Amino acid sequence: MSGSILYIDSDRFEQEVLKSDKPAILYFYSEDCPPCEVLAPIYEKMAEKYGDRIKFVKIMRQANRDLAKSLGVTGSPTLLFFRNGLEVGKRLSGFLSKPQVRTAIEGVLGDVLPPPELKKENCDVIILGGGAAGLSAAIYAARAKLNTILLEEGVPGGQAASTYHIANYPGTPGVISGTELIANMRKQAESFGARVEDLREIFEVKLQGPEKYVRTEDEEYYGKAIIIATGGKPKPLPAEGAEEFTGRGVHYCATCDGPMYQNRKVVVIGGGNSAVEEAVFLTRYASHVTIIHQFDHFQATKTAQEEAFKNDKIDIIWDSEVRKVHGEEHSLTGVTIENIKTGEIREIPTEGAFVYIGTQPRTEIFKGQVQIDDNGYIVASEDTKTNVEGVFAAGDVRTKPIRQVVTAAADGAAAGIMAERYITSQVKRIPVQVR
Ligand SMILES: Cc1cc2nc3c(=O)[nH]c(=O)nc-3n(C[C@H](O)[C@H](O)[C@H](O)COP(=O)(O)OP(=O)(O)OC[C@H]3O[C@@H](n4cnc5c(N)ncnc54)[C@H](O)[C@@H]3O)c2cc1C
Repeated sequence: MSGSILYIDSDRFEQEVLKSDKPAILYFYSEDCPPCEVLAPIYEKMAEKYGDRIKFVKIMRQANRDLAKSLGVTGSPTLLFFRNGLEVGKRLSGFLSKPQVRTAIEGVLGDVLPPPELKKENCDVIILGGGAAGLSAAIYAARAKLNTILLEEGVPGGQAASTYHIANYPGTPGVISGTELIANMRKQAESFGARVEDLREIFEVKLQGPEKYVRTEDEEYYGKAIIIATGGKPKPLPAEGAEEFTGRGVHYCATCDGPMYQNRKVVVIGGGNSAVEEAVFLTRYASHVTIIHQFDHFQATKTAQEEAFKNDKIDIIWDSEVRKVHGEEHSLTGVTIENIKTGEIREIPTEGAFVYIGTQPRTEIFKGQVQIDDNGYIVASEDTKTNVEGVFAAGDVRTKPIRQVVTAAADGAAAGIMAERYITSQVKRIPVQVR
């Protein structure tokens, strides 16, 4: 037992899960599994919150292979929900966020817990998002002696942490893993006094006026300035069945989910840098990788293309788009593609599809409060100022031509400095009381 989590082996599955008098959530995990490391603290937090209404059970997949196989669990982490001896709800697997897990639990319970009494926190700068932009902003703001709190809905990292290697960030030995780069940034921000808070899912923001407000599940934060650095998320594959198979064959992060495809065939959809580089990365695990791209040439850099062309585990299907994703209950069996020049339709057998067709900004919660362009990006230029005083937008979330780790970090620097200047100017503006 850890907190209210029960660790079991398959011999206790029937008693603890199928015969449980309350609903149960079963978490298959593995060792050396980065998405399991991300999920572990989320699971613990959920167990603290919902543990009296749903039983939280953990089981190691490698040590309980027969049970995993009988349940159709092929990868870690996988979450399954049971009630009265039957599986219910939607299973989740792969790289999971707190909102995804919370929503699934509430779906099984059939209601939402009322919010607890909220803790109040005051600070100078609230930074939303713990990717390269947010962490860089935290370094600059904290170093300027501002009381700085960074809120991240998962664990810090963002897109950079989902990249197995970054070869174009200056000042590294040449190539650095995204997780190492981000861990360094976090350490640096904390060394200057920034508070980096994990698992803070944001429910509400109020950006107008001199006092900015952010509400998470358990806290209310009040700050003098806000830096929005919520970045982007992958664009979903626009194909029939793609949503249904997400996490069960359709994936958006090769670093997170690639290891599940040891000696299996996968496809990669896309033709930019991310698609081509991640296809090469996937050849470490997969027996074969097919890249499906809608044009007759890649948009990736020459170096990335050369690596893919010379890799004999990779082949490429040009001029084609995925129309349908199909499979059995728990696993993918293939994708249907259409050649957009000839109209030919054919099926490509595969067990995994990794999608890299671009990203979209994460700005839903700011709509109506700050200027956002037609594509969903927050309108801000190089100085990261938005149309709202005291609100800055840094990194992939803002309107800009180049979205890279180094440009996100540069934005963070600008936003940290601009926030300090803004706060200082506000202090000067406070009228002196004449008595
Ligand atoms: C597969 C892939 C490969 C890439 N390879 C490279 C490369 O080799 N070199 C390179 O320079 N760039 C690369 N990029 C691009 C680069 O990763 C991004 O441009 C950069 O990381 C963006 O950083 P960011 O901080 O602006 O946003 P993100 O990295 O998206 O970070 C945003 C953070 O905000 C959090 N967040 C979002 N909404 C909320 C909320 N409501 N509450 C709390 N937290 C929230 C997210 O969880 C996330 O941690 C790659 C991108 C991808 C997807």
